Amino acid sequence: MIRFPEKFNNLVDALSGFSGVGKRTATKMALHLFKNHDLAVNLELAIKEVANSIKSCPFCGNMTEAGLCNICLDDKRDKRLFCIVETVDDLINIENSDSFRGIYLVLGDHLSPLEGIGTDKLFVEPMLEKLRRNLIDEILIATNPDTNGENTALYIKELAKSYNVKITRIAYGIPFGVSLGYIDKTTLGKAIVGRSQF
Ligand SMILES: [Zn+2]
Repeated sequence: MIRFPEKFNNLVDALSGFSGVGKRTATKMALHLFKNHDLAVNLELAIKEVANSIKSCPFCGNMTEAGLCNICLDDKRDKRLFCIVETVDDLINIENSDSFRGIYLVLGDHLSPLEGIGTDKLFVEPMLEKLRRNLIDEILIATNPDTNGENTALYIKELAKSYNVKITRIAYGIPFGVSLGYIDKTTLGKAIVGRSQF
């Protein structure tokens, strides 16, 4: 069996850390970088900049370079309409559907007893703070339509139900168990518009 240089193997191991990328694909990517020096240099710089400069927005968990993110700072948005998503990836998909003009909260995860992910892993404090100060009219829960997403949605509902706030759940029109990331933007847009009381 062929033996690669140790540093090449280190790169393959690092690339294998991406979800969905196995050893074989990681090796192909590493070979591509080896053959394309400019790409490797540009990628190194871009990765360093993301690692050092991109932070989580303290209000919503979205990506930002400094302070609040551009969604939280956008005056045209309805700050009393609050959409709860599991990941930044889900936020991006909803933004691309052009169907939502409120603000977000990125939980950062979902509840999963099997994976040992409990309520302490969810970023909910900004929502609780806004609820206490009566700054929210509606909470739209857009966690994924699977078991973990449903359990997470129920937890959010439990946290919010004693406050005077409307709680809605995204409508799907797609089979249970499909991740938001796999839904086309038209279907996702309809699901936002067609949300129902939760
Ligand atoms: Zn933000």
